[in-house]
Amino acid sequence: MDTIYKKTDNLPVKPNLQNYKEERTNFSWEQAKNELSSENINMAYQAIDRHVATPLRDHVALRWLGKKGESRDFTFAEMSRESNRFANVLKNLGIKKGERVFGLCGRIPELYIAILGTLKNLNVFCPLFSAFGPDPILARMQIGDGKVLITTASLYRKKIAKIRDQLPKLEHVIIIADPQQETENTHNFSALMEKASDDFSIEKTDPEDMALLHFTSGTTGKPKGAIHVHQAVIHHHISGKYALDFQPQDIYWCTADPGWVTGLSYGVISPWTNGVTNLIDEADFNVRHWYQVLQDQKVTIWYSAPTAIRMLMKAGLSVVKEYNFPHLRHVVSVGEPLNPEAVVWGEKAFGLPIHDTWWQTETGGIMIANYPAVDIKPGSMGYPMPGIEAVIVKHEDSSVSEIDTPEEVGELAIKVSWPSMFRGYLHEEGRYKKCFSGQYYFSGDLAKKDSDGCFWFVGRADDVINSSGHLISPFEIESILLEHEAVAEAGVIAKPDQVVMEYPKAFVALKPGFNADETLEKQLRGFIRKRMGATVAPKEIEFLPSLPKTKSGKIMRRLLKARELGLPEGDTSTLETNL
Ligand code: AMP
Repeated sequence: MDTIYKKTDNLPVKPNLQNYKEERTNFSWEQAKNELSSENINMAYQAIDRHVATPLRDHVALRWLGKKGESRDFTFAEMSRESNRFANVLKNLGIKKGERVFGLCGRIPELYIAILGTLKNLNVFCPLFSAFGPDPILARMQIGDGKVLITTASLYRKKIAKIRDQLPKLEHVIIIADPQQETENTHNFSALMEKASDDFSIEKTDPEDMALLHFTSGTTGKPKGAIHVHQAVIHHHISGKYALDFQPQDIYWCTADPGWVTGLSYGVISPWTNGVTNLIDEADFNVRHWYQVLQDQKVTIWYSAPTAIRMLMKAGLSVVKEYNFPHLRHVVSVGEPLNPEAVVWGEKAFGLPIHDTWWQTETGGIMIANYPAVDIKPGSMGYPMPGIEAVIVKHEDSSVSEIDTPEEVGELAIKVSWPSMFRGYLHEEGRYKKCFSGQYYFSGDLAKKDSDGCFWFVGRADDVINSSGHLISPFEIESILLEHEAVAEAGVIAKPDQVVMEYPKAFVALKPGFNADETLEKQLRGFIRKRMGATVAPKEIEFLPSLPKTKSGKIMRRLLKARELGLPEGDTSTLETNL
């Protein structure tokens, strides 16, 4: 598809980034920092408190839409006071600087208040995806040394109660529930908040103080806790300004779940440093409901994801045409490849092409984007943010070199450093070091750059599975499957899908005495769903007499995938036997 959307000179609102080349040339991180207050680099201060002394104090910061159709607004001043209370709650519980506060909640105002309060008390906020089952939660809380958990009564009952005794470091569980609802061994959120003062003075924060811990999945080993520091807020702010084009009076809707990095960087911090109204919808995805929200809430900027867009496309143009979106002016996407058809569909559905952005947990913020005032090549990720040097590299023996030839595929790398770059994987120095060489951070993604300097995603360089934008580790699934009494070997691959891009498929070899039949397959699927959570569990399980392995005994996922997809098997010289 070679359509190029010509940038519109008569955009209804002048974009923040009008001349990409000029802005890139003149950009400096020092200047970007100067757009924030010099008072305190603390993320929550920059996002909320600094606005309280300005006319923004009475502006709506958070508009929450509840599942039952209810709605509640919080101004910047109210968010400041409520988060002060939560900071005092943590302080009163004796939670010290750098200690981890985990959050396991749906999209409810208390979660947003808790995130800000945690940052204000210089504790580290660590989001958990509320659709996770107990196993991924346990692994992440153990690695992260979770001292406090904030969750809801029902999530506590379903997911935490049974693993709590395996979390000796977890000292406090704060339950968001009816004030009267007391659970043994837990605190009640409202009761604690009521007793806490709404006056809090944020300690002077060091730019390198740890602020957030975001878990991500690798091909092998346990989940990795990516450390982010308070000065990441500089990048959150400036990328929101350029790529999301935040302007005063915007009503912004980020549909990403706050259990993942997008829901934090661009669902909490960035819209608020930029002073816009942040819409939070508690309800699950539903085509008509989403159109209704976009229309009724007069959303101006919408940050969503390819899977959701493909689901809207599937419902057809006739549905979207029943609604009107005169206020919508910028539609943006992240998390998976945005196919060219989806970009074009945006034009047909909303009169606006969809702008892709690329980044990852480790980069902490948007690295590459299509901007409102720059032509779009549908299917491309766009151009590096001002301040960001993205390159395509190849690894040869132990050396790394940049690829200058347009269209040649290599690994996407970013030159270090930038404010929101992760500062480590918690307790895993070796794994962190492996991501860097000299001036490069290696993303693990394959990409290419065309002759105009525009970047195109090609695929992952590893076996990590990206299902609806959720990164899933095959290793995590395999480890849980191996805990089942019938399973001798397990190998998990990514199987392509039209809507969710790909989903995990598991291959299993059974121990002697177990029958590879439908009953066992059903049982295994139930087992893994219960342990991992349905959203991230394999959709298919296939039995094989034995799995292909290297001579050193490693399951060859690459071969399983090639066979599943009917692709060439490639080099099989390391195969244990001819399977
Ligand atoms: P996460 O760390 O969970 O945010 O996932 C990051 C990964 O998602 C990247 O390394 C890519 O593999 C994928 N990803 C994110 N944005 C895009 C995009 N615009 N196009 C293609 N893949 C993307």
